[in-house]
Formats: sequence, structure tokens, C-alpha cells
Amino acid sequence: MPLAIVDSHCHLDFEQFTGKIDEILARARDNGVFLMVTISTRVKQFDRIRAIAEAHEEIWCTIGTHPHNAKDETDVTVDDLVRIAQHPKVVGIGEAGLDYHYDFSPRDIQAASFRTHIRAARETGLPLVIHSREAEEDTGRMLEEEMGKGAFKPLLHCFASKPELARRGLAIGAYVSFSGILTFKNAADIHEAARLTPLDRVLVETDSPYLAPVPYRGKTNEPAYTRYTLEHLARLKDISPEQAARATSANFFNLFHKVKKPPVFEAA
Ligand SMILES: [Zn+2]
Ligand SMILES: [Zn+2]
Repeated sequence: MPLAIVDSHCHLDFEQFTGKIDEILARARDNGVFLMVTISTRVKQFDRIRAIAEAHEEIWCTIGTHPHNAKDETDVTVDDLVRIAQHPKVVGIGEAGLDYHYDFSPRDIQAASFRTHIRAARETGLPLVIHSREAEEDTGRMLEEEMGKGAFKPLLHCFASKPELARRGLAIGAYVSFSGILTFKNAADIHEAARLTPLDRVLVETDSPYLAPVPYRGKTNEPAYTRYTLEHLARLKDISPEQAARATSANFFNLFHKVKKPPVFEAA
């Protein structure tokens, strides 16, 4: 049985991929990666994302402001996000959240932007792609607070926090997505988080062009390499790669309910 894998998070509008989308899609297919979501980091550059998603059947997209860019997009409203999310290829809100590693935007501005995205996710019913780095406590607290005000669908993307944040997220219904970091030897906390995340709540991604998994660590990452992260997840959970692919893909289609499931995923 062939693998059918989803890369739930990549950045195909970044310059590393300019003019290379077709070859990247071909290599992805060769590695069983038949669908991907290219993630918005600036609402004001959504045109680039939309063009890529419209041109390729297997590419879907999101709308949102990365915390790094929150300071440049303080005027983006819930209504803006909700309106853009009506586009048939927009299947999620984000990525948004808190990044205290770089602090490229002041923390209060990151928090305000994060809340705007949470409201848009609640209003649209689309999953919220959450970026959190060195911000466990505030991320956990804000998600719990906001969940108390009305349900939304959180996805902790590129999980790189202490396992405690995975526990808190799972307790309020979040899904957790793992990137190439999962394949790094020294990532004990991430391995633990992957083990404690139930098989019906786990996703895989590349976050390409960054964070290539072993054996490509340090090189430009691309959706085809989702396969290495998936295989590592299977080893950590003591299941076959086929089982891991079936579970992560099923979880993806549950969470990203707006994505049309291609026949290749039915057969796998
Ligand atoms: Zn991110
Ligand atoms: Zn990202």
C-alpha cells in the first residue's frame, strides 16, 4: 500500500521556491506527499499565496499574520480575515501566535494580533494555525481563556515547546503538528510531546523552507521531506509508516474540513 501524506504547513511563497513549484510538487508526489497547505505570514502579501493555491490543485492556503510581522499589520481586523477566508482555497486562519525567541514584534502587539486571529477562527469555524516559540505560559493561558469564551479549533504547529504545552492544548481539543525537529537526536522534549499526543490528534509538516529533517538537516527543506518526519513519528509511536500516514492524513482532513480529499487518500 503506498503512503499518502499531507504536508500541513509549508511556505511556498518564500523566495527559495520561486520558479520551482512544479519540480517541488513532482518530488513531493514521488515521496507520497500528495497535498500541502502553504501558510500565510502577511495578510498584505496574500495575493502571492492565493496565486500559488489557485494554480495547483494539491496546494491549499491560509490567511494570517505571523507574530514576527504583527507590528506591520496592526490594522488587520477580524472582518478582514473572515472576508478573505471566504475564498474556496483558504482552509485555515494563521499562522498567528507568540514568538518570544526573536521578539520581532512587541509582545502586547503579538498578543492582540493572536486574539484577532482566534476570533476569526471562531467565526469561520476554520482551524487556527498557532505559532508558539518560547512562549508556553502565555500561549497556554490565552488559548484556555479564549476557549472559555467560545469554541474554536487550535493546531499547535511545528511543536517545539515543553511537553506541558502539548498537554494543555490537548486538554482543550487542540491538534499538534510535528516538523523536521522531530528527527533531531537532541530533541528529547519534542519526542516526549509526540509520544504523549494521541494518534488521533497528531499531524506532520515541514515548515519548509526551514527545519529540514535528518538526513537533510541544514539544507533547504521542501514538502517531499515530510516523509522523514512521518517515518520518525512512526518509530516513536512504534507503528508502521503506513499507519502513521493514515492517521495523520485522517486527522488533517478532520481538522481542515474545507479541503477536498483527493482519491489517492481514499485508496491508501
Ligand atoms: Zn511558525
Ligand atoms: Zn510557518
